[in-house]
Amino acid sequence: MVRTRLRCPCGEMITAPDEDLLVERAYEHLAAEHPALADTYTRDEVLFMAY
Ligand SMILES: [Zn+2]
Repeated sequence: MVRTRLRCPCGEMITAPDEDLLVERAYEHLAAEHPALADTYTRDEVLFMAY
């Protein structure tokens, strides 16, 4: 199963063609919108929010 969508706790929907890009885009969103959280999420935790 490939997870390609992720809903950030702020309500933002992030989509990507594959998991690697999804994680990348999630970190970009975190860095832009939630800089305080960007360093606290691991890849596994990001993917835990994905589906
Ligand atoms: Zn967000």
